[in-house]
Amino acid sequence: MSETTERSINESVVRLLQGDISTQDTDAVVNAANPDLAPGGGVAGAIHRAGGPELTEACARIRRERGPLPTGKAVITPGGALSALWVIHTVGPVWYGGTGGEPELLACSYRACLAIVREQGLRTVAFPSLSTGAYGYPLEEAASVALATVVADLREHKDTPVEVRFVLFSARDLAAYAAALEAFADG
Ligand code: ADP
Repeated sequence: MSETTERSINESVVRLLQGDISTQDTDAVVNAANPDLAPGGGVAGAIHRAGGPELTEACARIRRERGPLPTGKAVITPGGALSALWVIHTVGPVWYGGTGGEPELLACSYRACLAIVREQGLRTVAFPSLSTGAYGYPLEEAASVALATVVADLREHKDTPVEVRFVLFSARDLAAYAAALEAFADG
């Protein structure tokens, strides 16, 4: 069993664990999507494989009807064959060196997903480490933005508590997020 770290933020909780996002039993899992909402590799590949054709077809329909999903935005679909009932797809920023507004765009992705969680009345959501794979965002910087944004959002919305799970693929990812949680959940 891998170590789990958790912190309460009012009635909400942030939980960090090492694992695979596509096997989580939360109400929703977040997909590190590309603008075309296509399967691809990494998180999107794993989620589409586990979700099956129903998920991939729901994504293709949204892509046809609405065009590409802009960076920092999010959209929800049913989870298909996943344990999670829903998938919230968000497009994190590609890292271009940090001068292209990447931190704000990454924060927008996390906030957009949490806004959908609340709109839909969901209670539990699992995030991967958005943007730190193919999109090249440096891990420690991304972890800081992720935790600062999520903790601030949970504090701001005390009346709608949720469990936010970060599902990190590697021990190194988990350590970076644990350090960021320490920094932002205190005080
Ligand atoms: P992005 O394109 O936003 O960078 P990726 O899917 O390439 O997204 O990777 C984001 C992070 O998720 C990386 O740290 C990667 O190692 C990790 N990852 C890849 N597959 C999984 C999975 N099945 N579950 C959780 N994390 C995963």
